Amino acid sequence: MNKVIVEEFEGPFTELSGYSALSHWAFEHLSSESVILQFLVHSFCDDWYEQYDKRKDVEALLALPPAFVARVMRRYSENGKMMKERLRLYERGETGRIKKKKDCCYLEHESEEEKKSCSSHSLHMQYDKERDYGYFD
Ligand SMILES: [Zn+2]
Repeated sequence: MNKVIVEEFEGPFTELSGYSALSHWAFEHLSSESVILQFLVHSFCDDWYEQYDKRKDVEALLALPPAFVARVMRRYSENGKMMKERLRLYERGETGRIKKKKDCCYLEHESEEEKKSCSSHSLHMQYDKERDYGYFD
């Protein structure tokens, strides 16, 4: 199922209300360790264009699940620090030291063996229970 969700939600989106409904369902029904929850957070942070919000989107934004919002805050913090570091290296002329952002694998693998043989060459999530957040490093 998560492959369908990942493919369906790739790219920019402008209808927050529909996205919000999916997030509510996912955060209510899926395990906190599910990579799908982290995928929803990443796609929200990467692909949502707040300037296109309509009235119903503003209401949907205010009603997002608190666990989702907390993860979004962590993700924006991660992205902000990464961009700050990239800017610092760019300003110093050390562009060769700027790390390329690695892709994340959002598939739910059945076992560690399957994960190791994953052909995506992407990073896999490590769930941090204390922070209720999935790290990909
Ligand atoms: Zn994988």
